[in-house]
Order: sequence, then C-alpha cells, then structure tokens
Amino acid sequence: MDSDVVPVIGLLVLVPFGRREVIGLIIGISDSSDFPEEKLKNAVALRAQLAPLSDHWLALCAFAADYYQRPFGEVALPGLPKNLRALKPGPLDRALKKIARGVAPHDATPAAMPVLNPAQQEAADAIAESAGFAPILLHGVTGSGKTEVYLQAAHKILAQDERQQNLSQILILVPEINLTPQLENNVRARFPGVMVATLHSGLAEGERMFHWLAAHLGHARIVLGTRLAVLASMPHLKLIIIDEEHDPSYKQQEGLRYSARDLAVWRARQLGIPVVLGSATPALESWHHSQSGRYRKLELRQRAVRDAVLPTVRLIDMERDKPAEGLTSTLLAALRLRLERGEQSLLFLNRRGYAPVLNCDACGWVSNCTRCTSFMVLHKPEHRLRCHHCSLELRIPKYCPTCGNIDLQPMGRGTQRVEEGLQQFFPQARILRIDADSTRRKGSAQAAFDSVHRGEVDILIGTQMVAKGHDFKNLTVVGVLNPDTALFSHDYRASERLFAQLMQVAGRAGRAAQREGGSASEVLIQTRYPQHPLYGAVMAHDYDRFAGELLEERRHAGLPPFIYQALLRAEARELQTALDFLQLASECLPHPGITINDPIPMTMTRVANVDRAQLLVECASRPALQAFLKIWIATLRQIKTRARWSLEVDPVDI
Ligand SMILES: [Zn+2]
Ligand SMILES: [Zn+2]
Repeated sequence: MDSDVVPVIGLLVLVPFGRREVIGLIIGISDSSDFPEEKLKNAVALRAQLAPLSDHWLALCAFAADYYQRPFGEVALPGLPKNLRALKPGPLDRALKKIARGVAPHDATPAAMPVLNPAQQEAADAIAESAGFAPILLHGVTGSGKTEVYLQAAHKILAQDERQQNLSQILILVPEINLTPQLENNVRARFPGVMVATLHSGLAEGERMFHWLAAHLGHARIVLGTRLAVLASMPHLKLIIIDEEHDPSYKQQEGLRYSARDLAVWRARQLGIPVVLGSATPALESWHHSQSGRYRKLELRQRAVRDAVLPTVRLIDMERDKPAEGLTSTLLAALRLRLERGEQSLLFLNRRGYAPVLNCDACGWVSNCTRCTSFMVLHKPEHRLRCHHCSLELRIPKYCPTCGNIDLQPMGRGTQRVEEGLQQFFPQARILRIDADSTRRKGSAQAAFDSVHRGEVDILIGTQMVAKGHDFKNLTVVGVLNPDTALFSHDYRASERLFAQLMQVAGRAGRAAQREGGSASEVLIQTRYPQHPLYGAVMAHDYDRFAGELLEERRHAGLPPFIYQALLRAEARELQTALDFLQLASECLPHPGITINDPIPMTMTRVANVDRAQLLVECASRPALQAFLKIWIATLRQIKTRARWSLEVDPVDI
C-alpha cells in the first residue's frame, strides 16, 4: 500500500479476504490487536481519492445495525453504490472526474413561487425557522399543497445559505419511484441553480454512483429518493422531509427490515435538525406522538387551489344496486356523465390480473398454486395462470384437470376484467389500465401517467399505483371497487391501511377548481357494508376522529403504538421444523416484562414449497425489548436447526 496515504476512519479500503480481495470500510484505528501478528494482513489499497464517510453516517449505520439486530457490515456496505465497491478504482475515478465537470450551476430563471395560503405560509416558516431537533407532523388534507410547503421551506433554508456563505443539504423522501419524476421536475424548475440528486432502485449503477457521490461530496443540495435514500451520505444535511410518511413502502420487507421513517427521525435527532413527516392520513404512531406533544403538529385543513374542495364521498349499497361486470348502475351513470363532459374518471381496485381464481363448477376444482397456500391468478391477456407469491406460471387449462369439464369459470375480478367490462359499456371511451402487469417495461409507468396528464385517457383503472400522490387536474370522479375485504382482515393494521388508501385515492378527485358547467367532484364506493363506521369516517373526511377511535382500540387491546413488538420468523421444508425451532426459541430464557406468544404458522403458510411460522414478542418498554433481543439473538444462534430464521423489529405485517 502507498505509504504516504494515511488511513482515516470512514475511508474505503481494499483488503484481502480469504483468497479474494474485497472493499471494506475503516471503522476504527488501533495500534495493537488481540490477533497474533502473523495472522494480520496488510490492506491492499486505500480509496483516498474519496472523502471519508462521516462519523455521523457511521453512527447512523451503527444505530440501524444495533436496533434491527443485524451485523454492521450488512447495513453499511449495501448502502453504498455497487460501483463504489468495485475492486478496481476505475469507476470511482471516472465518476469523480465526471462530477467535477458537471457541477457548474446554470442560471435559468427559477419557476415562480406560488403564493401560499396563510396555513401553508405558517407551516413553511415554522419548518425553516426550527432550530435544533424538531420533529414536525404536517397533517394536510389531500390537495392542500404540502409539496409547496416543502419547497418553500427548502427555498428559505437554501437562501439563508447564500447570506451566511453556508452549505446546506435537504433530503426529501417519497414512497414510490413513480412519484419521483413529478416531484423532481417541480424541484428542478424551482431551483435551477441547485444540483439535485435522485436515489432510488430504478437507477442504473452508473447513475446511482454519480448521484450518490454528488450527495456525499456536498454538491447536491437537494437529494430526492425512496426509502434507501435515508442512508445516503450527506455531510451538510439540514432538513429531512418524509412525504406520505404513513406509506407502508417506507418499511423494507426483506434483509435489513428497517423503517426509513424511523431512521430519518433518528438521523434528525442525532444531527439536531428538523424532520417533517407529511401526510393526509398519518401513521397512528406519528399521530400518537403529535397528540402527546413529542411531535409538533402543523395543520393544512383546506385545499390549496382556490375553489377546489374535497370531493363528496358517497356509498353505493351493492345489495340494492346489483353490479353488472362489477359496476353498479350508479357508478356507470357517473362515468357516462364524465365522458359526456370530457372529464376524467378513475376506478380503483387493488387486485391485478383478470380474476383471482379459476374454478370448475362441476367438481369444485380451483386453481391452487402447487407450491403456495394461495390461488393461481388468471391473467387473460397473457393467457396465463400466475401465482403472485412464487411467480409460478402455467398456461390456462382448456379443461378441468380433475373432471375434464371444459367450462371453467373465473371467480371474482381484477383490474383486467374490469377493463374488459368498461370496454363493453363504453366502446368509444379511451380506457387505460395501470398496474404492475401493464407497466413491466422500464419507463412504461411514467409514459402511462404522462398520457393521463395530457388528457389522452377518459377512464383510468388501476391498483394502488394510481392512488398515491398524482395530481390529475381533470379528474372529477373516483370509483372504488370491492374494498370490503380489508374490513374483516385478521391484521389489526388493515383498517388503518384501508382508511389511508381510501382517503388517498379519494384525494385524486377535484384537485383543480370546478369548471363552469363541469362536474362537482365525487367519490363513489361500492360496498356491501354501507353502515360500517370506517366508511362513515371516510365520508366525513374525518381522519382525526377515526385515528382517535383507532388509538383507543389499540390502547385497550395492548397493541402498537402502546407496546413494542418483534417478530421471529422461521421457514423450512416441513412446517414442524419451523415450529420446533420457534418452540425452543420461546423457552430459552426467563424474560421478565417480555411477553412471548405461541409459535403459529403464518396465515399464508407455504410459499414456493417452504413452510413458514412466526413467534411474536411484545413488551411495554422499547429499551427493555431491545435489551432482551440482544441476549435472545445470541441464544438463538446456538440452537441447532434446519430452519432458516430472521428477526424483525417493529414488524408491520403480522
Ligand atoms: Zn372439474
Ligand atoms: Zn405459488
């Protein structure tokens, strides 16, 4: 190794590892070691051309590793771009050169700052003027202009920089890649002289390296990204914004199962900076913190566009108005009216495919997946049965595999089938379906949303992909099909999610002022349970009451946010192997204050020929639970088992 380069904490380093060489990270420096000297090896090369990762960033990774009970390296290294971890320094050197050329600010005129209404102005000022650690819940109804509040708060902070010859960075997290282009365009138009970096899983490696370096070197003043961006290296971070903070996609569901929202709040606390959690339907955890005073609450109760009002929500009782092709006459009439007036409609159905199951009336055969506890979903345009859990694909059978009956029937309906029904009812209409199947090609989701924005679509049908964040200007009716199943889920979070989803999708309607001769905006929910209180709260747009009641229920039932949970999962070829492991795990320690529930098979027990079971651990104190987990995980590692297991802290899917 070059002897005049000094190792520093936070530098990347190329080290020998067995017979290979790998990239490592210097996390401590010592002049002595417990290892015998002959076993120590020299590093091969330092990546000294790259500024070291900061103590703050290392502390963030250390916290995440400690809290989620994973090894430090598993948190820190995957957080870095792949090209940065390349064995040869070429990609790094090239990216550094490119970035040195590419950072000159250009001097386009910034897009005009819209005038904020008083509530928005108060919120933007409060955020920009916060000193020290300040967690802020920005609770604003859909269409209330939260994005504008973020942008103007960001503007104030960056403007202060110029006066004080300071350098600030702002991190904005969004739940979905699909939402980044819309926000990115807004941000770039508003801050033409400022370098904006984006970080999400849709970037090619070269792009990801460039954007990551721009953030790490402090060139990018605004970093925009999905949950993984919470681990970006940003040495001058001064403000974090989490848009749609309630969104489940902030929780990683594999490997390091972290909550980007929780890590962002921790990061803000450690740096002593404000963090804004924005939502129309905050997560109950965040709402609870705002009620108890831990988070400051800022409210936007009106839509930002003058004369744009929240849509009227109506329920259609499906027992009285029997649907044809899944569509009630009331909903069909509403769609017809919009077609006549040249306005757009949105139908929301959170189920993709043509029908969730194919069925034989003669013998009762159903299209079970042979590898999972689930049905194979009928995908008619693709001529396939597909399992959404293990990706098994089969051709659609021409006759029943059990009795030979050729008249197999699809049961239930997904977006493809509704699309087909719509084409029958409205042969002249321009109908577009947006779901994971219709947007498999890279860039196709963006193209689809663009065509909606350009007014080339009359009726949009889609899954939750269409429910979030999009600002469709000419949309005046939203129809919700079949939301009832979530009312009776075994998952205690299902009603919270359903409420958020309905408020989100309802919020797509009527975002612009009503046109002369145009329709008032409305949301029509087809249901068999019109008396259900959840729908009552949706009709009243009353998040506060709904959240208050739900929190009371949780308090009585002893559920989060009033207690803390961890989930031990085990999987094996045989269910019993998984259950046996969990049984041993539940018995291995005395544990005052800790509730260890019985091991149970997961609701969907088998996925891809593997059986899965789980064990829930609960505690009234977060520190006590953390202390227990540390000892427990060491004990678990001693258990001899053929089951694969993993531990999740603060699970959201139980
Ligand atoms: Zn049959
Ligand atoms: Zn399957």
